[in-house]
Amino acid sequence: MLENWVVIPTCLPLVLRRCHACASERFRASGRFRVNANHKLIDAWLLALCTACGETAKLTVLERGKVRSVRPELLDRLHDNDPGLTAELLQDPVVQRRNRIALDWDNAWRLDTGGSQHPDREVIDVSVRFTARIPVRPVRLIAEGCGLSRAEVERLITEGKLVSAVRLTGKVSDDFTFTLKH
Ligand SMILES: [Zn+2]
Repeated sequence: MLENWVVIPTCLPLVLRRCHACASERFRASGRFRVNANHKLIDAWLLALCTACGETAKLTVLERGKVRSVRPELLDRLHDNDPGLTAELLQDPVVQRRNRIALDWDNAWRLDTGGSQHPDREVIDVSVRFTARIPVRPVRLIAEGCGLSRAEVERLITEGKLVSAVRLTGKVSDDFTFTLKH
């Protein structure tokens, strides 16, 4: 018996970055971009707002890039403030490194178990797929998906009844599978 679970974003994650105005550490993407093209060079920023004081932070998307080397499709999306582009860029490791930001996915995702109510079978294999790189604790995910408490899940791991190729007691953000034996 194989079940397929999916971890799905429900909204944009918050941006972890210190605000210079009020020392808060969370920004919300505004959904807007600023583009500045001078002759042959282009700069582009994703604008984010401090969740505490509203201060604007500019996250660099393009820095003195050559206009000709930027895909026209990307330029259109920047000018149109494409909402999907905000989600893509926030999750782009290059953008994260360049701006020294991390993402806060708390309350920004949900688990879809396909509606299957954890049947009383002896062995269940579950494949968990991530539609975005969202760091979650497998213990929390499995507890929610199987209708168990976290303590029960931890006990099943200790007893060797819940096994996986990944470490179930840490955090994961990539697809994994696990097997539950009753
Ligand atoms: Zn602030």
